[in-house]
Amino acid sequence: MKKNEIIRLEITDISNLGSGVGRYNDMVVFVPQSAVGDVLDVRILKVKKNCVYGKIENIITPSKDRVSVDCGTFFKCGGCVYRHISYESEAKLKENAVAQTVKRIGKVDMKPNPIVVDSPLRYRNKAQYPINQNYEVGFFAPHSHRIVPCKDCLLQPEEFYKITTLFEEWCKTTNQTVYNEESGKGLIRHLYLRKATVTNQIMVCIVINGSALPQSETLIEGLKNLLGDNLKTVVLNINTEKTNVILSTKITVLYGDGYIYDELRGVKIRLSPLSFYQVNHTMAEKLYKKAEEYAEPENKRVLDLYCGAGTIGLSLHKKAKEIIGVEIIPEAVKDAEYNAKINNINNARFICADAANAAKALKEEEIKPDVVIVDPPRKGCSEDLLEIIANDFSPERIVYVSCDPATLARDVNLLSQKGYELKEYTPFDLFPSTSHVETVALLVQDK
Ligand code: SAH
Repeated sequence: MKKNEIIRLEITDISNLGSGVGRYNDMVVFVPQSAVGDVLDVRILKVKKNCVYGKIENIITPSKDRVSVDCGTFFKCGGCVYRHISYESEAKLKENAVAQTVKRIGKVDMKPNPIVVDSPLRYRNKAQYPINQNYEVGFFAPHSHRIVPCKDCLLQPEEFYKITTLFEEWCKTTNQTVYNEESGKGLIRHLYLRKATVTNQIMVCIVINGSALPQSETLIEGLKNLLGDNLKTVVLNINTEKTNVILSTKITVLYGDGYIYDELRGVKIRLSPLSFYQVNHTMAEKLYKKAEEYAEPENKRVLDLYCGAGTIGLSLHKKAKEIIGVEIIPEAVKDAEYNAKINNINNARFICADAANAAKALKEEEIKPDVVIVDPPRKGCSEDLLEIIANDFSPERIVYVSCDPATLARDVNLLSQKGYELKEYTPFDLFPSTSHVETVALLVQDK
């Protein structure tokens, strides 16, 4: 196969990254935005040793999963991978993908519970928009840092569209300079927005390559007029590093107190701009409820590892005897401690440390949790940590909340060698239209 050649291909599968997959003369061909059952003419874009990448030239026979696309930027934007198939088929696809991964990497042949879903539209409460030299905000194209202008993303709350429009206009009229990734020059890097789903409070954060934002008063005035009391805080994030990482740790408050306040499963939650918070509030509540069901925390000492602002652990405070949360980001730990206080929760404490180090310290103090909940980032848990959990704490139950089925499956396999058996697991679609999927798994001690 050569670049630019056109081949006829049937799509038989979808990769974990959401690309359609077909086979041509024993070669695997990846075709983004295709669907299982499509027969396509595909233009070859890139030939690698083991696989080929192509794009749709013509749809000969469409898959029965296809629906009409509702977003003008879908074909250019790196955000969504599924807007061309029905939400039902997307959800099924994710459920199957989690099951396959648990079987292949976790070596457990067990059906998951049916995937839990909610509305696939406007489910996010957070956006980070890069901005181009024409003062257009948007999202990056796939595998690139080219900005695809998009003010109104269908995954975001409607207010964000109003804010991005106002922000673009303000940048233009005040003649702001926009950051250029190559030269490292220019001031405005990103517009970062957060909305509290229950209270409707909004945080506006402008990420800048400098120490101050000229004419910020007029921006704040405009935002106040636009959002009224829902505008809770405006902050700057000072990021002068030449890096792809969006946020630095340096925050300057321009308006309000620097926080927004939400509610999750009846618990008031304060959030700093740097604290992790699930982007899909409705689904996070369902996910945490399932985590509680799996944990059976009644009168137990619960260890909530990778706890962020304390969300999961604090939601168990009425049932659990004691909650110990562990989190590595100091601002998130401060939020967690504050959240315990404003909710009059007296049976929770938090440790700011790496999860494995905190576990070691607890072991040395001979503090043994009865239940362990882990909710690590994509890379999963370290083997050190799993070792201490399984061998030293040896709780009856381990509840594993995961945003990456592959590392979940790897850790399920490791835990199975340390005496824990996967009892059941449930996928949750926290991120409709993207390739991501969340899973919560219950592991119990082999008897
Ligand atoms: N359970 C929380 C947060 C989950 S996200 C919630 O549901 O909201 C994962 C969290 O792990 C993030 O807050 C991240 O800062 C934290 N983290 C990442 N690496 C860590 C480590 N090595 N030790 C402890 N926490 C870590």
